[in-house]
Amino acid sequence: MSKTIFTACLGTETNSFSPIPTGMDLFRRTLLVRGGAHGDMPHFFALPLMVWRRRAEAMGWRVIEGLAAFATPAGDTVRVVFEQLCGEIVAELRAAMPVDAVMLNLHGAMIADGYPDAEGELIRRVRETVGPAVPIGVELDLHCHLTEQKVANATAIVIYKEYPHVDVTDRAEDLFEIMAATLAGQVRPVMALHDCRIIGIFPTTREPLRGFVDRMAALEGQGPILSVSLAHGFPWGDTPEVGTRVLVVADGDRAGASALADRLGAEVWSMRSEISPPFLSIDAAVDRIMGHDGVKPLVLADAADNPGIGAAGDSTFLLARLIERKVGGVAIAPCWDPTATALAFEAGLGASLDMRLGGKLGPASGTAVDARVTVKGLVNDAYQPFGKAMAMMGNMAWLRIGDSNASAIDVVVNDYRTQAFAPACFTAVGLDIGKCRGLIVKSTQHFHAGFLPVAAEILYVSAPGTGAMDMRALPFKRVGRALWPRVAEPHAA
Ligand SMILES: [Zn+2]
Repeated sequence: MSKTIFTACLGTETNSFSPIPTGMDLFRRTLLVRGGAHGDMPHFFALPLMVWRRRAEAMGWRVIEGLAAFATPAGDTVRVVFEQLCGEIVAELRAAMPVDAVMLNLHGAMIADGYPDAEGELIRRVRETVGPAVPIGVELDLHCHLTEQKVANATAIVIYKEYPHVDVTDRAEDLFEIMAATLAGQVRPVMALHDCRIIGIFPTTREPLRGFVDRMAALEGQGPILSVSLAHGFPWGDTPEVGTRVLVVADGDRAGASALADRLGAEVWSMRSEISPPFLSIDAAVDRIMGHDGVKPLVLADAADNPGIGAAGDSTFLLARLIERKVGGVAIAPCWDPTATALAFEAGLGASLDMRLGGKLGPASGTAVDARVTVKGLVNDAYQPFGKAMAMMGNMAWLRIGDSNASAIDVVVNDYRTQAFAPACFTAVGLDIGKCRGLIVKSTQHFHAGFLPVAAEILYVSAPGTGAMDMRALPFKRVGRALWPRVAEPHAA
């Protein structure tokens, strides 16, 4: 029988410590699409909507797609902006009714002024609009805050399993299967949560988490188990329910779902000190670069300054130390500096000029670096691949501090704030990464898939910044629960 489904997307990943507000312009510049007009280069957060449309239309269903809105991570979302976007989706849904199901692609870590669980508020309003009988399917980023409100109002939630997020469309397919089976009356999803009481950043490319992810996937389809997810959480979100949680979706069996969530949660707890990657100090990272002379470069992640977690992307802590210690053969990208980018374009290719680089957005960005630079490359409207999507980088300029390849530090500045996803953030301006000893990327983990083939080794650096990795030092104001590693035994507290 033909069905009508309503789909929409809303999200961002709010870093409560970011100096950059999330207003309408940030949504407009990232993703703000109405009526499914995603074009040839769909945004990463549009991909699930496209999967659901394809799958639904193949079954002869009607798809009404509402607003798709996503903002590059930054600080709290402005209250009227959240009200407007959320209100638009609910109004579109009301106009589309009656519908048989609602499918929402959300991030899950959006905090708006007055709404500590902004996307949970959207799910609540959608539930209020459609009533208790219409299934609501939700896909979330694993850096979500998996709140009680989200779980209480959704019918089924499926969360990415992989960090880097290479499985976004696979999880969209999973959710569609569950929703189709629900609409066909074959399953009745129930959900159970387990709060692990930990915060941190957990790449799924290393053991022991790699094996855990594979075990989660293997459990799906066994008996009543429909889906198993680990919501890592987003530690820089100052919101009451921040933290890591296990989610199990089962067919009717709430007790079984709950028992499995508790068992897997206990496994995560037992792995807690091993699942964060080791971080090098700035000087240890510089030492590693100085000692490296392989064919391929070392790739070092400046995780604290990752625009993908709300940082400015213009911090200079690593750059300044490289200059102080006179270490060359290193390239850094992408550094968000619209002023430097504009000056480089104005001066033109080959020009040498004195420039003030980075350090502009506040204390988390460090001190601006004054240096004589040569403009080695310029490119307009560059893009880099991110999974099956293309990510904007804006205008980019390759600035060289120093002379020869061996002694120079290359800084790629741009005017569109984004993290490093792929070597294109260096090569788009003509930089040959094969000539570098070290590549410093502004990213935490999403660079991993793109850089693994070109890297001698991947290392994580702990510099100061908006996304600083010392979880014990985060200045939370709204978090009342005890969380490891801030508290050694949070379950006892
Ligand atoms: Zn994420």
